[in-house]
Amino acid sequence: MSAGPVAAVLREVADDELYRRNAFRVTGVATDAGARAVRERQKKDAAAAAVGVAVGSDPRLPLLTPTTDEEVRAAYDVLADPRRRLVHELLWFWGDDVTSCGCRSHQRHDEAVEAHALALDAERAGDRGRTWRTAREQWSAVLADAATWTHLEARVAAIGDARRLDARAVEELRAGAPSALVASVVSCAARSGDPRRLREEAERWGLAAVDLDDLLLGAVAERVERVEGRLVESQDRLGGDAHGAVALLRPQVLDDLAWIDGLAPHDRSRLLSDLRDRTAIVLNNAALEMLEDDPDAGQIAAVFGAAEALATSATTRRAVDENRRGLSRRAAADKVLRRYGLTSAGGGVATLVDRMTAALQVGRFGEAARMAGHLLTIVEDPADQRMLRDVRRRALEEARHHPHPSDRVGPARIGHGVLRLLRDVLPGVLMIAGGIALAVFVQHAVMILAALPLILGGCYLVDRRTRRRIDIGPRW
Ligand SMILES: [Zn+2]
Repeated sequence: MSAGPVAAVLREVADDELYRRNAFRVTGVATDAGARAVRERQKKDAAAAAVGVAVGSDPRLPLLTPTTDEEVRAAYDVLADPRRRLVHELLWFWGDDVTSCGCRSHQRHDEAVEAHALALDAERAGDRGRTWRTAREQWSAVLADAATWTHLEARVAAIGDARRLDARAVEELRAGAPSALVASVVSCAARSGDPRRLREEAERWGLAAVDLDDLLLGAVAERVERVEGRLVESQDRLGGDAHGAVALLRPQVLDDLAWIDGLAPHDRSRLLSDLRDRTAIVLNNAALEMLEDDPDAGQIAAVFGAAEALATSATTRRAVDENRRGLSRRAAADKVLRRYGLTSAGGGVATLVDRMTAALQVGRFGEAARMAGHLLTIVEDPADQRMLRDVRRRALEEARHHPHPSDRVGPARIGHGVLRLLRDVLPGVLMIAGGIALAVFVQHAVMILAALPLILGGCYLVDRRTRRRIDIGPRW
């Protein structure tokens, strides 16, 4: 925005009460009224106010709430100051009378004023149904129209206060008006619980020479300060009271940051981006501290989740992500350790390693192999992993050769049990089968042996008989 007294007045009025506190609207005085007419109207209003009669605002767009004496006095103060009066003239109806200025810009200007004032009034009244489009389009056209500024130059001449008002005033108005108009929308957004819609409306105005990001940062400044304060307080609680630190940030600061982001997106501002990242770091550190005590894993996960959503720098995002994954690994480890009645918080991993070593020493190899298998799902260090794989391999081998009685049971090892049973029983079965076969063989052999003399004798007898019969045959 430009410098100068008129520019300063423009900045002063540039909020969502741009038209509500307009001196012409409040008093009902016409924008082209001469100094004498204004003074007469002021006297009349003062007399009416003295007997308790309310001063009527401009009937073309009456104020929704009655004016106070204070507001009326302030309005007449404005009208008595040519610079402030000129700014207020820009922002109120110029009317149909063009005899003094001869311009052709009044109608569109007045439509722009009416549409914009109605839109702001509606927003204040909580009515979101009203369209901003007419205000936006008409004002864009009015600002681009040279006749607008010619009219105001004519007004500067008509007011005739050369000491305080000259052509530079119109230049200041021309330079500052776009920002003032958009600032009224931003201010309206800043009053809203969900500022995103109106911020997007402010973006749609797209007027040249408007530093929208600057306006948005100005609108969030107060909340940013509040967040900063809370953040410092929260940080102070770390190192002892992590839960307290988190309670200071949730939900207040997180809500504030969401609101700020709706009005001034952090990806367009280094300051806001940093603010989110710093909040993420405090949340991350608090969650880590909570992890050290006996943890409510659900709550810690939520704190990490909030930190992850806020982190804007790659470093913070990586760190939070790593810690968060560490937490889920820990939950998985606890699930495994619970089978042994252990937890990771109570040094469960070390205890399980001790138990595995003890099992190895007493020759319970199957049990040691199972523990090594479980530990493998928990430990992350590659050297530990190698060592455990080694232990498991050897323990399994040992278990195969020297099965311990306890290793033959366990519902999870039915497959192995069956195999082992087969392996243990099979030789016996084979032996029995062999024995039976042998017995059958022996039985047959004995019978054959026993029969052998008979057979042989038989054979001999047969032979002898045969021979004798042959031999004696001729003797007989
Ligand atoms: Zn005019």
